Amino acid sequence: MLTALWLIVFIVAAIALAYANASALAWVAAGAAFLGVAWVAGLLPAWLTLALAAAFVIVAPALVVPGLRRRLVSEPLLRAFRKVLPPMSQTEREAIEAGSVWWDGELFSGKPDWRKLLAVPRGTLTPEEQHFLDHDVEELCAMVSDWETTNVYKDLPPNVWKFVKDRGFLGMIIPREYGGLGFSGYAHSQVVQKISTRSGTAAVTVLVPNSLGPGELLLHYGTDEQKRHYLPRLAKGLEIPCFALTNPSAGSDAASIPDYGVVCWGEHEGKKVLGLRVTWDKRYITLGPVATLLGLAFRAYDPDHLAGNKDEIGITCALIPTSHPGVDIGRRHMPLNAVFQNGPTWGKDVFIPMDWVIGGQPMLGRGWRMLMECLAAGRGISLPSSNTGMAKLAVRTTGGYARVRRQFKTAIGRFEGIEEALARMGGNLYMMDATRSLTARAVDLGEKPAVLSGIAKLHITEKNREVINDAMDVVGGKGICMGPSNVLGAAYMQMPVSITVEGANILTRSLIVYGQGAIRCHPFVLKEMEATRRADHAQALAEFDAAFAGHVRFTLSNMARALVMGLTGSHFVGVAADVAPEMRRHYQKLTRFSAALAFVSDVSMVTLGGALKRKEKLSARLGDVLSSLYLCSATLKRYEDEGRHKADAPLVHWAVWDAMFKAQNAFEGVISNFPSRLVAAVVGRIVFPLGRPYVVPSDRLGHQVARLLIEPSATRDRLTAGMYIDQRSDDPVRAIELALDATVAAEPIEEKLRVAVKKGRVAAKLPPGAGPEVLDARAVEAGVITADEARVLAEQRALTATVVRVDDFGPDLGRSLLVPPQPVTIHAAAARQVQSAKPVGERAAA
Ligand SMILES: Cc1cc2nc3c(=O)[nH]c(=O)nc-3n(C[C@H](O)[C@H](O)[C@H](O)COP(=O)(O)OP(=O)(O)OC[C@H]3O[C@@H](n4cnc5c(N)ncnc54)[C@H](O)[C@@H]3O)c2cc1C
Repeated sequence: MLTALWLIVFIVAAIALAYANASALAWVAAGAAFLGVAWVAGLLPAWLTLALAAAFVIVAPALVVPGLRRRLVSEPLLRAFRKVLPPMSQTEREAIEAGSVWWDGELFSGKPDWRKLLAVPRGTLTPEEQHFLDHDVEELCAMVSDWETTNVYKDLPPNVWKFVKDRGFLGMIIPREYGGLGFSGYAHSQVVQKISTRSGTAAVTVLVPNSLGPGELLLHYGTDEQKRHYLPRLAKGLEIPCFALTNPSAGSDAASIPDYGVVCWGEHEGKKVLGLRVTWDKRYITLGPVATLLGLAFRAYDPDHLAGNKDEIGITCALIPTSHPGVDIGRRHMPLNAVFQNGPTWGKDVFIPMDWVIGGQPMLGRGWRMLMECLAAGRGISLPSSNTGMAKLAVRTTGGYARVRRQFKTAIGRFEGIEEALARMGGNLYMMDATRSLTARAVDLGEKPAVLSGIAKLHITEKNREVINDAMDVVGGKGICMGPSNVLGAAYMQMPVSITVEGANILTRSLIVYGQGAIRCHPFVLKEMEATRRADHAQALAEFDAAFAGHVRFTLSNMARALVMGLTGSHFVGVAADVAPEMRRHYQKLTRFSAALAFVSDVSMVTLGGALKRKEKLSARLGDVLSSLYLCSATLKRYEDEGRHKADAPLVHWAVWDAMFKAQNAFEGVISNFPSRLVAAVVGRIVFPLGRPYVVPSDRLGHQVARLLIEPSATRDRLTAGMYIDQRSDDPVRAIELALDATVAAEPIEEKLRVAVKKGRVAAKLPPGAGPEVLDARAVEAGVITADEARVLAEQRALTATVVRVDDFGPDLGRSLLVPPQPVTIHAAAARQVQSAKPVGERAAA
């Protein structure tokens, strides 16, 4: 009995020491105390106590005496690590070293300090940025229509091109000293998002020069002369830039581009200068066909050692005016009917002077590092912003449509099946916008969050795909028939573009998020890897020993914490005192999953070693857990930043619950696929000791979220804040807004009418061909509704008819597509009567 008690106390104490990340000395002291008690009280057979004591005497000094530990433990391990670690190419190393670790490091620590997240400043705009958003961006949105750009101009109309250049849209990230707008990452994101709620073509045209491309590269790496020459021209739209990396044989594996430049002497502007003779074949280049300035990535070689002593210099970036002889540009691709400019470019043996290399000769061969660093920040802004904009358009219009459109005498948005889709749309959008905003702010804080920007790009585009698919299902045929009144069809068609560019999503999920995240964000792994590569053995051993000792304690601590939090349902986990009480449990559960991720990661690395890199399915699922933790962090942060609106809480609960359920599935996918069944069983028991904590978000919660989408409210406005809504009554988005408000106004009147019909006060049977207005007239006559109320019903029917109608064309779709048959018109009286004219921002502020 006493022995059993001793054993229990021993196990509890070991878990407590591990939980507290106790030092080796504390472990040794505790071990000695337990052995002492066992000996004195005779709790164990004498031989066993002696055997344990002997083992203790051997192990304990190795734990606490660093010199011994290095020789007995760390040195053999260092040798073994050197053998099993997969080789890392120069490009892989540069990708891993580029960028910085931010909140991802906390999530990987197993013990995120929520105060740090809550201390991140809210997204704010300067008065100039706000003015630009409220005036210039509004004007731009009013000027473009997706239908016209796609079907009439197959491009932005000339006046819109002029407008975006003149107003500085192409130079948002260029500092004011060079004539640019000098906007923050957050402001840039707000602008792109808003334009995306109106026109994908305009959004892409604006976002590309402001993301990874000549402007960004020049800002960070250009010579002073290059900056002085090009930045003012780019800012004013006097140069249209593009950046060409992708080659037909090198897409995702961009580091393997075969395009090359050979260092040589040549003639430029009548002088003999050192330069490169460049040959390239690129495709898919956005803005390529209209670019005046071609940013080009190629592999530089120097066989005659004219620029140094290396034969193969490496990937290099240069800026080449497209008017330069030999540059071929101008044909167009047609990316899923999107008409933003995109096409191939090629050139053969084109001589360029050395000072066209970005950063000049010293930056020869530094191109990959440059691209990775810019991508680490830029990827977190452009596609997350444009995709959040698209989702806002889809959610606002689909929610409105679902209330206006009736089938089986019921608004379709009230059917449980549609509610399920609407709930997903609402929860996803809240989380997407939260993630977009937090990631942009990280960039503004000076971070280059390589892993988090990968997560943001991957998950915001995937969620947008889900949102658009759901929207298409909800609106049915209305989304399928193309024409000026279809606001979803183009987004549905073009969604795969976002999935493919800036790191195709499957690759990003399988290789980047966790592949880089595990190494970069783990507090010890990169240190261990670096130590194994040190040439100086003594230094390597010292560094490895320190990192490895910390790593062991880290793993034990996270194992104990995951187990204890699992057993206690994480109810006792401390989080920052000032979080919203209604969200407290989410923080606690996130902390639990963070510890579990750190523990399962370590087990995966130990059991699979270098093979983990090739086990993309496991790596992708571990990345899914990390991603869920980030998406949930952003969502909770948004709730705090926006002032804890209780009415928005269902959106937060749904989004976090859904993400945590998916994280749980991802954990199970990893654990159940461990090659060792024993390891899988043990790890499964530690991470989920009482079974699965999550089920899918409840139907009740889904119902609450869906209701928020089909009703005008401040929550709906906050959810779609920053969206452009045209105030002209013939605009299809505006038409839905008007019809929604009319429907909400009509519903109580319809209810009175329904009750009166049921009670027999109004005869329901209508003569053949009679419309509902006959019933209204009878109800007015019977004193059931007033004449004004009858007018509200009539207006609601007129507005609904406008929303429900789809476009049609003449027999020759090809030509007649260019001229839409009739503009969408809204019953003028109805438009006057309905009190919905407030712009989105106004109601959100209320
Ligand atoms: C509209 C559009 C605009 C573009 N704009 C530009 C631009 O301005 N400049 C520029 O340089 N490029 C541009 N691109 C190119 C874009 O970046 C590439 O399309 C992208 O890198 C993917 O390359 P790929 O299409 O050749 O696909 P592939 O590389 O052939 O990939 C095919 C599939 O394989 C997957 N895959 C590849 N490797 C792995 C792996 N190791 N593990 C798991 N899955 C993997 C990918 O995720 C993808 O699903 C653009 C492309 C498009 C379509």
